[in-house]
Amino acid sequence: DRVANQIAAGEVIERPVAVVKELVENSIDAGATRIEVEFRNGGKSYIRIEDNGKGMSPDEALLSLERHATSKIREASDLNEVSSFGFRGEALPSIASVSRFTLRTRAEGWEHGTEIKINGGKMLEKKACGMPVGTVIEVAQLFNSVPARRKFLKTDPTETAHITYNTRLFAVAHPKVAFRVLEGGRIVFQSPACESLRDRIAEIWGRSLADDLIPVDAYDSKTGYRLTGLTAKPGVGRSTRRELVTLVNRRPVDSRTLGFAVLDAYHGRIQKGRYPPAFLFLEINTQEVDVNVHPAKREVRFRNDGAIRRFVLGAITETLMTASE
Ligand code: ADP
Ligand code: MG
Repeated sequence: DRVANQIAAGEVIERPVAVVKELVENSIDAGATRIEVEFRNGGKSYIRIEDNGKGMSPDEALLSLERHATSKIREASDLNEVSSFGFRGEALPSIASVSRFTLRTRAEGWEHGTEIKINGGKMLEKKACGMPVGTVIEVAQLFNSVPARRKFLKTDPTETAHITYNTRLFAVAHPKVAFRVLEGGRIVFQSPACESLRDRIAEIWGRSLADDLIPVDAYDSKTGYRLTGLTAKPGVGRSTRRELVTLVNRRPVDSRTLGFAVLDAYHGRIQKGRYPPAFLFLEINTQEVDVNVHPAKREVRFRNDGAIRRFVLGAITETLMTASE
């Protein structure tokens, strides 16, 4: 089983940012309203994710480290929804199989928390500990025991940039959750719980960018597609596309379809070679998102690519036309 976990880890945990992504998603799933991420050396030597979510009982804590022990599939019909993004019940055991891993967690109603230490998939110790309700996971020396994987990691600054960018995207996806991200004790960014997406964007990218955006709200009753969020005012362009952020069912994604649809809508409305900042939330039926995409990637594919593209292009175009009237 250790070997199975290490193989799974190779597939789903390619680099430190993948660990951060899985753990932050778990914290959000656990209903956390405050998440802290700390890392060192681009996450290679140390990652800590701390949340105030619902935590786990001692039994649940043990179970969470077994493969396919997800608590998130209640019945078969859920399977499709859960699997439409990533994999199920593999993140914790996979990560624990390729690192020095510490889980500390306490659920409401339990006097003590549980601390479990694992090294390269081998359980070292399990004991009671004092802590508030919530979960703290520490991942040290990632891939130390897997030189082949370690070799493919980029430099510390590159891995750091990935973690920073991705945690910002999670913060945008969940404005009401307070985030704090630290690199080696230094705050990279932090934001309290925000009332609105605009406030969250102002916290992270600055008020002037936030003020350059106008609301989008489109719904198509035939397909059930919905697009909300904030998009650049006509004429507003940036030199990078890093602030062109798309989310599907609240998960940050990379999608050529969405990217092109947005760029198309701005064609002739911003300077050539510039990119519109936009933070766009597409809500669609989970069955319309392709499940056969690599779990470690943010890429998604749509079953009905053309329809999605037309919908998004139409929604943004109309928003821009209304804005320039
Ligand atoms: P999945 O998220 O697909 O269920 P994971 O391996 O990521 O699989 O997590 C396994 C289980 O551990 C989850 O289903 C959840 O019950 C529990 N868990 C993981 N992280 C947390 C957390 N931060 N707070 C509470 N429960 C958690
Ligand atoms: Mg998970």
